[in-house]
Amino acid sequence: MTGGPNDGEARTGTATDGDVLVSVRDLERTYRGGVEALRGVSFDVRRGSRFGIVGESGSGKSTVVRLLAALDRPTGGSVTFDGTRIDHLRDRDLGFLRKRLQIVFQDPMGSLDPRMRVRDIISEPLGRARGRDERVAELLDAVGLPGDAGRKYPHQFSGGQRQRISIARALAPRPEVLIADEAVSALDVLVRKQILDLLDRLAGEFSLTMVFVSHDLGVVRRVCDEVAVMRRGEIVEQGPVADVYDAPRSEYTRSLVAAAPTLETVLSEKE
Ligand code: ADP
Ligand code: MG
Repeated sequence: MTGGPNDGEARTGTATDGDVLVSVRDLERTYRGGVEALRGVSFDVRRGSRFGIVGESGSGKSTVVRLLAALDRPTGGSVTFDGTRIDHLRDRDLGFLRKRLQIVFQDPMGSLDPRMRVRDIISEPLGRARGRDERVAELLDAVGLPGDAGRKYPHQFSGGQRQRISIARALAPRPEVLIADEAVSALDVLVRKQILDLLDRLAGEFSLTMVFVSHDLGVVRRVCDEVAVMRRGEIVEQGPVADVYDAPRSEYTRSLVAAAPTLETVLSEKE
């Protein structure tokens, strides 16, 4: 691990592959009413890597995501983005993060304004920047949507296509980090595979660092290099995907892996 989060040196453009881009330490989040959603979570996401977070519904995954994106504040611990503590920054000081880190959520209908045309949805994060139309065309092409998609509205697309629109919008500000929170969970298995392959390709093409969150172990196995397994607000195990899936150390991970079909199995059963 190079350059700890608190070494105080501003990084220049020569960062070596694999340095820590996002780091959380002893993260706690207790919601009003006393729900301890996170009880001391620590992990590092290295630049250019694909970091998976798996765990049952309610284990705290989306809470982690909101804290990584500074959409919420921890009740304990720290979140560091490229050497800067972001967990207690005020909204007006978070502009840099909003550009550099983007999230794709599960439900595109909930995050796409039904009254806006696709081109305006995609270019909204760009403000009034020049070259917007060209950028929209580029993004539509990158996510595999036809050029005339920009003139249409979200309801005119299928679930998978709407997720492509969300991805195009997330990529518009040229983020370094893309977080996918159950981004393919609502899609049927064939479309799920297509969107995963798309994310996989885009991650390479745009040198993205990905944080891939899913209750579906098969999905994370397909796209990630490293994985953290969460249970009741804690990480029970983390490491390279091959180690965690093929030789799980905790009984809990073992039971999750045993219960989870791989995406390949599910696909072959459909044939
Ligand atoms: P996951 O994404 O793994 O399903 P979440 O992070 O959404 O889990 O939720 C973790 C726990 O925190 C759950 O028990 C959930 O009910 C609770 N929780 C999530 N958000 C809130 C909130 N805004 N207020 C109170 N409890 C919450
Ligand atoms: Mg969630």
